[in-house]
Amino acid sequence: MARPSKQIDKSQYETYVILGGGRIRCLRCTAKSVRSGEQCGKPAMRSSKTQKCTHHGGRSKGATTVEGKQRIIDAHLKHGESTLLAKAEYSHDSAKLSMLEDCLHVLEMTNAKRRQGRKASGYRPLVDVEGVRQFLLETHLHNV
Ligand SMILES: [Zn+2]
Repeated sequence: MARPSKQIDKSQYETYVILGGGRIRCLRCTAKSVRSGEQCGKPAMRSSKTQKCTHHGGRSKGATTVEGKQRIIDAHLKHGESTLLAKAEYSHDSAKLSMLEDCLHVLEMTNAKRRQGRKASGYRPLVDVEGVRQFLLETHLHNV
């Protein structure tokens, strides 16, 4: 039998806690009790990035070693579509697509409207047949 979910909606978190008889207002720890499902009542540490008190990891600076950072990245990877590697690959492919479009226009194979907007990094405009020939030699003929 599954336990009922005790998750607090993020919007239901109390952001502040009042201390000192109503004179001091400070950020409240956002940790949640596993047993009761209630939010921690202590004030969060000022230096805490995640708004936690000293008992719930407010002093943690996160992973510092390369291995530790990679372990956290691996643990939080959901689909890999927005990793730096995937973004670089997408940008490279987008630049290649823009250059292929240039090829079509230089070779007068189309009179379609050009794609508007900023071109991806790595794009270099192809304006003459020699540039097109060079581009095709260095990209497509080697991939076939
Ligand atoms: Zn706490």
